[in-house]
Amino acid sequence: MTEISISENVSLAPYSTFRTGGPARFFTEPSNEEKLKEVFRFAEEKGLPVFVLGNGSNCLISDKGFDGLVIRIGKLMGDISSEQRDDGLTYVTAGAGCLLSKFGNYCAEMGLEGAEFACGIPGTVGGAVFMNAGAYGREIKDIAVSVRYLENNEIKEIPADECGFSYRTSIFDKKQEAGAQPVILSMTAALKPGDKEKIATYVAELRQKRSASQPLDVPSAGSTFKRPEGYFAAKLIEDSGLKGFALDDSGAQVSPKHAGFVVNNNGSASAEDILKLIDYVSGKVFEDSGVRLEKEVRLIGEFGGEG
Ligand SMILES: Cc1cc2nc3c(=O)[nH]c(=O)nc-3n(C[C@H](O)[C@H](O)[C@H](O)COP(=O)(O)OP(=O)(O)OC[C@H]3O[C@@H](n4cnc5c(N)ncnc54)[C@H](O)[C@@H]3O)c2cc1C
Repeated sequence: MTEISISENVSLAPYSTFRTGGPARFFTEPSNEEKLKEVFRFAEEKGLPVFVLGNGSNCLISDKGFDGLVIRIGKLMGDISSEQRDDGLTYVTAGAGCLLSKFGNYCAEMGLEGAEFACGIPGTVGGAVFMNAGAYGREIKDIAVSVRYLENNEIKEIPADECGFSYRTSIFDKKQEAGAQPVILSMTAALKPGDKEKIATYVAELRQKRSASQPLDVPSAGSTFKRPEGYFAAKLIEDSGLKGFALDDSGAQVSPKHAGFVVNNNGSASAEDILKLIDYVSGKVFEDSGVRLEKEVRLIGEFGGEG
């Protein structure tokens, strides 16, 4: 039997870019697919609910933590490789635990075009596939050709057009919502060769744009809300006079730099503090504009109030 290492009562705050949240009853970071399968057997034997975590850059984890098993797919399952094919494209395969920025940089260094947008997104490849992450007019669905995943102890590979990619969602998201636990294992992307220097310049330009407009030095989970059709969440929040707004001195604040981000100053706010502010912001925006903001940030574990 494959040996697995499972820890108990592990604080999840360091595993979330919001830097808050309670403990996981059990926590593990498998290093390969065999161990991952074994970990699911452990959960089944113990009757534990499972949550699959990437880099925690789109999650608000409850102060009560997660009363089950958190499986973190991190760099141990993050190998990258590439293959040039006769169609002139290079097929890059990245393990789900590979950071998206590492994947983007790998492509840029190989002089491959089209993955520049990925360089500044602080998630893993698995989380990016799950969310169909995107920026500056491109998203995962524009480059992915296939995804491998584990479900019910069986490994499957499906073409990208069966992944149900649309704005910040995928079939994996829908499956999780329905109570299943698919684990994305890897993504293969097809990219065409380009001018290496131009690609490097474009990556630097996007980085610069991001750091000029986003509060990258304060804990957050990026855009708090999805973009409502025909509007921009940040503009609606600003129009409601909430840029820089805080309900209290907990540390939860609408970023003064980018109204679309709720931040956790000094990492001192609890998840409840952050959620209270998020709910306040969406309530006020609805009151003022009639537009309902939908959370992009995912709530993990139990929350006392609204969710
Ligand atoms: C400063 C900042 C900037 C950001 N900018 C952007 C941006 O420009 N564009 C954008 O799209 N997002 C952005 N985000 C949000 C976030 O980085 C993306 O949503 C990212 O794709 C989440 O990846 P993750 O690995 O952190 O996922 P997590 O937050 O760990 O998880 C998100 C969801 O994916 C699921 N999941 C994660 N890994 C797997 C896996 N291997 N198998 C199955 N399910 C999995 C989880 O269960 C969860 O439901 C930003 C966040 C921050 C903090």
